[in-house]
Amino acid sequence: MSTFSQGGASSNRNGNTNSNTRTSFKPPSSNVKSKPTQRRNTTTGAAKDRHASVPGRVRVAVRLRPRNAEESVADADFADCVELQPELKRLKLRKNNWDGETYEFDEVLTEFASQKRVYEVVARPVVESVLDGYNGTIMAYGQTGTGKTYTLGRLGEEDTAARGIMVRAMEDIFADVSLETDSVSVSYLQLYMETIQDLLDPANDNIAIVEDPKTGDVSLPGATLVEIRDQQSFVELLRLGEAHRFAANTKLNTESSRSHAILMVHVKRSIKGRDASHSSENGNHPHMVKSLKAPIVRKAKLVVVDLAGSERIDKSGSEGHMLEEAKSINLSLSALGKCINSLAENSAHVPFRDSKLTRLLRDSFGGTARTSLVITIGPSPRHRGETASTIMFGQRAMKVENMIKLKEEFDYKSLSRRLDIELDKLIMEHERQQKAFEDEIERLATEAQHQISEAERNYVDSLEKERSKYQKEYMESVKKLEEKFLMNQRKNEEPNMKSSMEIPKVSAEEMADLKKMLQKETLLRKAAEGETNNLKIHVAELKQSETSAKSEISKLHKMLEDEAHQKEKLEGEIAILQSQLLHLSLEADETSRQLDEGRFEKEVGGRDSLTSQVKHQLQASGNGEKPSIGKLFEQVGLQKILSLLEAEDADVRIHAVKVVANLAAEETNQGRIVEAGGLTSLLTLLKTTQDETILRVAAGAIANLAMNETNQELIMAQGGISLLSMTAANAEDPQTLRMVAGAIANLCGNDKLQTELRGEGGIKALLGMVRCRHPDVHAQVARGIANYAKCESRASSQGLKSGRSFLIEDGALPWIVQNANNEASSIRRHIELALCHLAQHEANARDMIKGGALWELVRISRDCSREDIKTLAHRTLASIPAFQAEMRRMRVSR
Ligand code: ADP
Ligand code: MG
Repeated sequence: MSTFSQGGASSNRNGNTNSNTRTSFKPPSSNVKSKPTQRRNTTTGAAKDRHASVPGRVRVAVRLRPRNAEESVADADFADCVELQPELKRLKLRKNNWDGETYEFDEVLTEFASQKRVYEVVARPVVESVLDGYNGTIMAYGQTGTGKTYTLGRLGEEDTAARGIMVRAMEDIFADVSLETDSVSVSYLQLYMETIQDLLDPANDNIAIVEDPKTGDVSLPGATLVEIRDQQSFVELLRLGEAHRFAANTKLNTESSRSHAILMVHVKRSIKGRDASHSSENGNHPHMVKSLKAPIVRKAKLVVVDLAGSERIDKSGSEGHMLEEAKSINLSLSALGKCINSLAENSAHVPFRDSKLTRLLRDSFGGTARTSLVITIGPSPRHRGETASTIMFGQRAMKVENMIKLKEEFDYKSLSRRLDIELDKLIMEHERQQKAFEDEIERLATEAQHQISEAERNYVDSLEKERSKYQKEYMESVKKLEEKFLMNQRKNEEPNMKSSMEIPKVSAEEMADLKKMLQKETLLRKAAEGETNNLKIHVAELKQSETSAKSEISKLHKMLEDEAHQKEKLEGEIAILQSQLLHLSLEADETSRQLDEGRFEKEVGGRDSLTSQVKHQLQASGNGEKPSIGKLFEQVGLQKILSLLEAEDADVRIHAVKVVANLAAEETNQGRIVEAGGLTSLLTLLKTTQDETILRVAAGAIANLAMNETNQELIMAQGGISLLSMTAANAEDPQTLRMVAGAIANLCGNDKLQTELRGEGGIKALLGMVRCRHPDVHAQVARGIANYAKCESRASSQGLKSGRSFLIEDGALPWIVQNANNEASSIRRHIELALCHLAQHEANARDMIKGGALWELVRISRDCSREDIKTLAHRTLASIPAFQAEMRRMRVSR
């Protein structure tokens, strides 16, 4: 909503603003002056401020249809029954010419408002939050003929400016999603006489509503769900639905104004999956931790409801319908009205189950979704009654608070798929490596063989060569000797006498020759021997390299075996991881639900809160299917889970902290967690993390652990208060603040820690958190104050403490007084008790009188609906002389 001016107060005094109207706004929790009488005079400006700052409230716009031709004639002499002040966001419903009642809405749309503007103010915020992962609902309520279908359903094909909310919403959705990773699918239904018909498949005319008991999600498994990929096919789908609606209504002899048309758009978006693809592409060993990153899928649902004409509530009986039919026609609409009333009054029970419509809207209205309601009215004074009832419906809806919840979950299925792929890759990689090893071994073996045989061959060759060389030389020498011998013989046979003398001479020469030859022979032989030795050494070397190759081969074999072993281990680990993931997902769901239920709450009187009672019952009657947390403990080991709190991967840290928080929710596990150092790790997280989710979950876990007295002391001893105070000062998420406030509130209930807690700024931190206007945070703050006041009062009675309350010293009184009559009973009750405790000690009396607390006590002693508190207040007032004196002075009787 846009800004507002503070000018509302004077127009209140001057104008006709009906006091009922004003009180229909909840008082702002901190802007209000202290006295209850003043509270009624809350300025409209302040009231508006509050609306602007509570994001979860149902936003209501009113739209006036221009006069139609018939009205222009018939009502020509009369003024419209309403007068709009769009700049003040007000509408005056005329009673008569001089009097009327003024109402405020989030948006007042005149008869000139364009379809575009209507879309921007009514629908765009809802569509944007659907794109962010929250469920959202847009509804149109009003008398038939006032423009519900015009506002929501116009296709605007002939004139783009006339396009209604459905078409524009889809355009915005398509502009934001990416069709590669996201999907958009649509169902279109009609609800008539408590029967749901499929407008996309008319044969399908009795569709059942299914509610997931765990998540509370509502679905229609029987309805046609069409995935659409472009605007044109969506428009065609709407046209088809409209045609079927017309046909169905003709067949049933009814008109569309008696049925509700419901468009459901499911948007599924992948948040992280896009870039978390596989890391092992380049063949190295993949990182297991990295592949644990589950892609986050945000699923959200946009529901657009063109409600049946509201006039049926009053008139159907008188228009000749059979009674039963009339009842059925009205059932869903009147049930919606009842639910809105219960939600607006914060009733414990909201009758969602009473009709199909309210069952269908259960997860999208007044619960976990953002909701916009446009109420349509006509100008004709003849329909003043209808218009007035429509306006009142809108006013009540403005008080409905929604608890917005992000519909985000980890996509464990796709993580598991990815792990499968990872495993397959590992197997393939391993196979590849094995093959490469075998090939390498074979290659080495053949190479070695080759070398050996080559060496042998060389050896034989050279031997042979040497041998033939020596043989040849030998033969030659022999031949030479023979020749010489023959020559000598011939010479001897010649008759020449001197020959006898010559023989010795020749033979001496020959002897020298022979000697030389022999020497040469010997040398050659030695060389050959050397060569042979060399070859022998070479062969030995080759033999050695062969054995080393063999040992290399056996080493490779061993490596292969190791590798196979490693692979088996990896597969086992993956299987364990997958089963752990399954647990984790269940645990994470469980944790978030428990955190939502405020499981850690412990009421002042020591009594378990209603939710935890219900939970205990559920557990007691459980069918044993819930995966045992103990098992997870044993399988993974607490130490390992705690060590994951420091993991580098943020997703792993989130998983781990969720698991720890879940374990911490069970009293039986708390001791073990603390023993294993879990409390210290959680406190450290508060110091080190910026991540809102981790902060929220860690604070929730600490809040749970802080239920136990021993743990409370440990938290204090480890500087928990300053860490919680730091988180309280920095966090923005209301749920984180609620957890932090819950933890401090638990510590406030420990008698031994009072002084220390205050000394370390616990009370101031608690009070600082009321800057977040969320009622859940305020309820925890109130609980902490009540706890603290109780312990302090006990200490004062036992003489352990004297002087003013530390609560008063730390400035809690103004907030206490402002909220003593808070509409939310969870806040009011605690404060009433706190006031009673504070009032029991004379030392606080002066401040209480000055700060207006006395009048709250007087009111409590008179009006409190809880008898025990009322009596306590009454007794306390009577026992403190200073109060008595003041009341006498102000002439107030008890
Ligand atoms: P409902 O769905 O509430 O019964 P319709 O949307 O069918 O009402 O509107 C009734 C008639 O009024 C239609 O003819 C429609 O075109 C016309 N109409 C409704 N709202 C406007 C508007 N803001 N401007 C112009 N014509 C409108
Ligand atoms: Mg209509």
